[in-house]
Amino acid sequence: MEKNLKREEFLLRINGLANGTHCVSIKCDKTFFDIAQMEELHDGDLDLQITMEIQDKNVQIRFDFKGYVVAACDRCLDDVRVPMDFSEHLVVKLVENPAAFENQEDDNLWIIGEKEPMIDIFHFVYESILLAMPMRIVHPDDENGNSTCNPEILGKLNELKAKDDDIDPRWSALKDLIPNE
Ligand SMILES: [Zn+2]
Repeated sequence: MEKNLKREEFLLRINGLANGTHCVSIKCDKTFFDIAQMEELHDGDLDLQITMEIQDKNVQIRFDFKGYVVAACDRCLDDVRVPMDFSEHLVVKLVENPAAFENQEDDNLWIIGEKEPMIDIFHFVYESILLAMPMRIVHPDDENGNSTCNPEILGKLNELKAKDDDIDPRWSALKDLIPNE
């Protein structure tokens, strides 16, 4: 999909809608990750279901994410698919004078002018994805408990580890005297 069209999907119309529930679904795909230019993530395929509950000047928004993102493995640096299944929420209040609320610091509460026709949720969405990422990303083990990391890199890592274990004990003792950086 063209980048401009994908970007526009994240402009959510909230004003002039009838009270009640409104649903929108968006795909966070390769085009989305290309636009977001996140260092950590460059690809993925997430279904984002947005449910808006509109009650006059209050909009409750629920975001349900399901799918996967592609990130570099912490062990072998090859790409790995990270499954994602999480939710976020946002409350939008439409007020006459939003400047009076500019000190509020809740990221999940937006106070905007009552004449604003739409909100831009693009940054909110990608920050939600980043926050939901696991701390450690590694290729999973297969059914036999063996790592599915790049075997070449795994082999090199094991070689290095073996060398470290073989180190001359005298040098080892000396090394202990050197303060760690
Ligand atoms: Zn790996």
